[in-house]
Amino acid sequence: MADCLFCKIVRKEIPAKVAYEDHEVLAFDDINPAAPVHVLVIPRKHVATLNDLAPADDAVMGKLYRVAAQVARERGVADSGWRATVNCGRDAHQLVFHVHLHLMAGRAFSWPPG
Ligand code: AMP
Ligand code: ZN
Repeated sequence: MADCLFCKIVRKEIPAKVAYEDHEVLAFDDINPAAPVHVLVIPRKHVATLNDLAPADDAVMGKLYRVAAQVARERGVADSGWRATVNCGRDAHQLVFHVHLHLMAGRAFSWPPG
C-alpha cells in the first residue's frame, strides 16, 4: 500500500530500529514506547486490520507471536512477562491501519486495560 506508514517501513522508505526481519515478518521498536520494551511485530504484507484477515494469513499471524517471544527473550523480558496486544479499529485505539502486534514489557501492567 503506497500510503501506509508501516508499508513504508517495510520498504525502508522510513527508518526504524529493526529487531527482527525475514521474508514474512518485520519487528521494530515503537517510536513512542509505552513501556521500557515496546516492539511492533508486523506482517510484511499489508493487511489493514484483524477484520481483514484471510485464511492465507493464518500462518503469518501465528508467526507474529513466535517472533514476539524471540524478541522478548533477546531483550531479557521473556521470564518477567510481556503483553501482546493487537488493536482492531477505532474503539480499540488502532491508529495505524496495517496489522501490528505490540510486544510490551519491562513494567507491570494493569488489567483490564484502559
Ligand atoms: P496502534 O494505536 O495500535 O495503531 O499503534 C500504532 C503504534 O505505532 C503506536 O504505538 C505508535 O507509537 C507507533 N508508531 C507510529 N509511527 C511509528 C514509526 N514511524 N515508527 C515506529 N512506531 C511508530
Ligand atoms: Zn501497510
